[in-house]
Amino acid sequence: MTLPLRPELRAVEPYGAPQLDVPICLNVNENPYAPSAAVVDDIAQAVRRAATGLNRYPDRDAMTLRSTLADYLARESNVRIEPQRIWAANGSNEVMLHILQAYGGHGRTLMSFAPTYSMYHEYARDTGTQWVAGHRKDDFTLDLDHVRALVTKVRPSVLVLTSPNNPTGTALTIEEIRQVAQLTRTTGPVIDGEQTATVFVVDEAYGEFRREGTPSALSLLDDYDHLVVTRTMSKAFGAAGLRLGYLAASHEVIADVMKVRLPYHLSAITQAAALAALSHADELMSQVAHVRSTRDSLVEWLRTEGFKAAPSDANFVLFGRFNDRQRVFDELLKRGILIRVVGPEGWLRVSVGTDEEDEAFRTALKEVVTND
Ligand SMILES: *Cc1c(COP(=O)(O)O)cnc(C)c1O
Repeated sequence: MTLPLRPELRAVEPYGAPQLDVPICLNVNENPYAPSAAVVDDIAQAVRRAATGLNRYPDRDAMTLRSTLADYLARESNVRIEPQRIWAANGSNEVMLHILQAYGGHGRTLMSFAPTYSMYHEYARDTGTQWVAGHRKDDFTLDLDHVRALVTKVRPSVLVLTSPNNPTGTALTIEEIRQVAQLTRTTGPVIDGEQTATVFVVDEAYGEFRREGTPSALSLLDDYDHLVVTRTMSKAFGAAGLRLGYLAASHEVIADVMKVRLPYHLSAITQAAALAALSHADELMSQVAHVRSTRDSLVEWLRTEGFKAAPSDANFVLFGRFNDRQRVFDELLKRGILIRVVGPEGWLRVSVGTDEEDEAFRTALKEVVTND
């Protein structure tokens, strides 16, 4: 018997970073600090309350949660967005899937510029959308002439730029984002004789780690109805296990993604836990400044030790370059430290951990490299 699997899925291996039981996990850019007992108690109580109503379907539109996320964004980025212009789902992965279900599909293209997040290509494949990746410059910055040429030629229905970018850590300037937003107003496919925009997604999964004085793309939302900014509670917020991502965009975009979401996609338990966590935003985020400063000193240390390190606005650093990066990865793993083989050949990515984890990483790396 043969099952009628879509041909493009035949050779595919289910994707995911290795989940190994290792003392020091610096491989998926999580916040290394676990929530405090007070936060855990509040989440547990909120979930308990939600459990009393589990015979009913949850609030389909998650309005309370969206409104609380809007308040959070106003505090974090100084940009006030109406709750109706926020959309939430199970991780920003699902948010991105909603975007592609609405705007991608057969005969349409999702575009980005590599090296970048490897999941985009998977969302494209899963929604039958063509994937086109341009390239970044050698220093991982964006070549705006190349972007203009490729976007104008391919006319993608969705363009995603990650800022700060994963796996490089590099951020775009607000001026670059504005230029791309301006460009993409008229670069989408022609549909029924009508010129459309390219939906321009700025993935700010690591937005909270950006350096002081760097504005968020949220500040451009009022100027561009085709601009979408995605965020997540998985990274800076210290709640990767919660699975809560969201986007901010125009009313038009929200109306479109609402057409493709599964009914009741956000469980009552998730909504309750997310709301409880958000009420502790300041505490959960209190380590962000510390992580930023550990990151800056890690970049400096790597360079002093003779490595290359990409400038980082995120909670990880791309460093190298190694003739045999797999060996360096393996040797670190033998010492109980899990990092990530990702990015261009010769580079490795390490997430910023606690002070102790960071120290252990530095010691192990020196050992591994002197034994070369
Ligand atoms: C980690 C990450 C995400 C977050 O995904 P979630 O589904 O919200 O956990 C999104 N985009 C990028 C670039 C990431 O690195």
